[in-house]
Formats: sequence, C-alpha cells, structure tokens
Amino acid sequence: TTREPVTVIGLGPMGRAMVRCLLDAGHPVTVWNRTPSKATPLVAFGATHAETIAEALAASELVILSLTDYRAMDDILSTATEALAGKLIVNLSSDTPQRTTEAASWLAGHGARPLVGGVMVSGELVGTERSYVFYSGPRDSFDAHANTLAVLGRPDYRGEDHALAQLYYQAHLDIFLTSLAAYLHATALMRAAGVTETTFAPYATEMFDMMPYFLKGVAEQLERGEYPGDGATATMMGATADHIVGASDAAGIDATLPRAVQSYYHRVLAAGHGKDGWPSLYEVIGNR
Ligand code: NDP
Repeated sequence: TTREPVTVIGLGPMGRAMVRCLLDAGHPVTVWNRTPSKATPLVAFGATHAETIAEALAASELVILSLTDYRAMDDILSTATEALAGKLIVNLSSDTPQRTTEAASWLAGHGARPLVGGVMVSGELVGTERSYVFYSGPRDSFDAHANTLAVLGRPDYRGEDHALAQLYYQAHLDIFLTSLAAYLHATALMRAAGVTETTFAPYATEMFDMMPYFLKGVAEQLERGEYPGDGATATMMGATADHIVGASDAAGIDATLPRAVQSYYHRVLAAGHGKDGWPSLYEVIGNR
C-alpha cells in the first residue's frame, strides 16, 4: 500500500480520531488546529504539527478538514488562499447543502479540488468496520485518493454534485436526532409516572429494533403515492398522537416533539387521508 501524506485541519473528537487511524495505517500526517494544544498528544503518536495554515497545506496534496461548520473553513483557509492551488480539499464538516455548494466553487476559484464528505459514525468508531463515509464531488479526485480515505471507514461515493454527501449526511442525522429526542421524551413521560430510566430502556431498545419491520415496503408506497391503511389507519394513529400529547401535558413535560407529530396527523386527516396508512403523512411533509 502507498503511504500518502495527509494533512488534517481541525482536531475535535473526529479530527483526532482520523489522525490516529491515518497514522496507524502508516500515512505521514500533518496537523493544524486553531487551539494548538490539541495537537500535542498527536505529535506524540507521530503526527507533524504545522505552525501555520500555509505550512499545513503545503505538506500534502490530500487535505482533510474536520470542523464544526463551513464558516470555520472560511476563517481558516481565507488566510492562506495562495496555498490552495492543486490541493484536494476533503471537507468532512457539517453544513447546509447550499453552503456546501458555495464553498465548493470558492475552493475551485482558488485552484483547489473540493470533495465533500460526511462521516456516519462517532469518533470512537472511525476506522472500524462499522464506519462509513459519504463522498461527493469529482469522481476522478475521489478515485485517486479512495484507498487512503478508506482508512477512515468504507467510502460511499454518491455522485458529482458536491451537495450530495452533505444531503445524505443530513438525512441520516434527521432520523438520528429526531429519534434520540423521541427516546428522551418517552423516557421523561415514564419518569413522570415513577418508572425509572433504566427500567424503560430495554423497552425503548425493542421499539427501535422493530423499526425495520415497520419500514418494509413503505418507500415503494411513497413512490407510488398510495398509502393503504389495511393494518392501521391514519385516523387511529392520529388519535394516538392526540393521546401522547395529552399524556405529556398531564405529566407536565415538554410536548414540542409529539405536538409536531400531532400536527402532521391533524393536517393529513383534514386532507381526507383518514382511511389511508401513516405513510400518507408524506403528503403533508413532502408538500407533494
Ligand atoms: P468540534 O466542533 O468538536 O471540533 C471541530 C474543530 O473545529 C475544532 O478543531 C475547532 O477548533 C474547530 N473550529 C470551530 N470553529 C472554528 C473557527 N471559527 N476557526 C477555526 N477552527 C474552528 O467537532 P467534531 O470533531 O465533533 O466534529 C467535526 C465534524 O464532524 C462536524 O462537522 C460534525 O458534524 C461531524 N461529525 C461529528 C461526529 C461526532 O460524533 N462528534 C460524528 C459524525 C460527524 P478549536 O479546537 O480551536 O475549538
């Protein structure tokens, strides 16, 4: 395997995990971080600490950014634009697809090749078998460095449009963030009745485990725009949504999340989907 020099800019939990994996795989790694002290432990593992951003960019053709958002990239790279030409800038930071597209043209304007990525696991799983990373941008740039990038996790190239990887990342996090908040809400509802968090936890886990079963065939329904309510109607589910809001209000816990779900049901029922299944909520959510 080739030992490709890599620069990693941004040493939060994700950046640090990536540096460790790249070093373990034998790649020479140069690091830079706004708060320089975060580089010290990585230098002990063999990383080179660049004093300046220009120096960090000069060290490798392949430059990975792991930052809070794209504004951080602007703050950092705008101070060293003359060092961007010829670099493959792989930005593994979260932001909106629009922002991602703008940044890609800004980078290209400075002679860099932008590749966008979204890491789908947390820091401690980076580089393990469970890790996968979405990429989008020029196919040839991705192909040329895919072997090195594979160290971070299984690369999943989604297409030339720079925003695509960001969109895939966000769609996943949409499910993730909402589900995690739902879990906390349900747990608070139980706690208000005196059921402890640890008592409820295995029940919540079983519910999450059952989700693939409930999702079977739904995508096909959504594509067809037909939502048969054979087993469970939107009317029944909507009544249940009302009951969850009622229970939350009675328990004195925040009901923002179940109220949002209730609102979907109220609107889809008002639109005449009472005898359809729950996937008919797509009509309201997707503005079809
Ligand atoms: P953090 O926000 O903890 O750290 C990111 C880095 O951004 C730090 O090095 C920080 O520097 C730097 N930074 C932030 N703002 C600026 C700025 N204005 N100028 C210069 N540097 C700046 O992020 P994570 O490491 O947790 O995550 C990185 C990216 O990966 C995020 O986009 C996140 O969405 C994504 N991600 C995170 C996961 C996780 O579990 N943490 C999982 C999957 C993806 P400093 O040290 O000086 O503060």
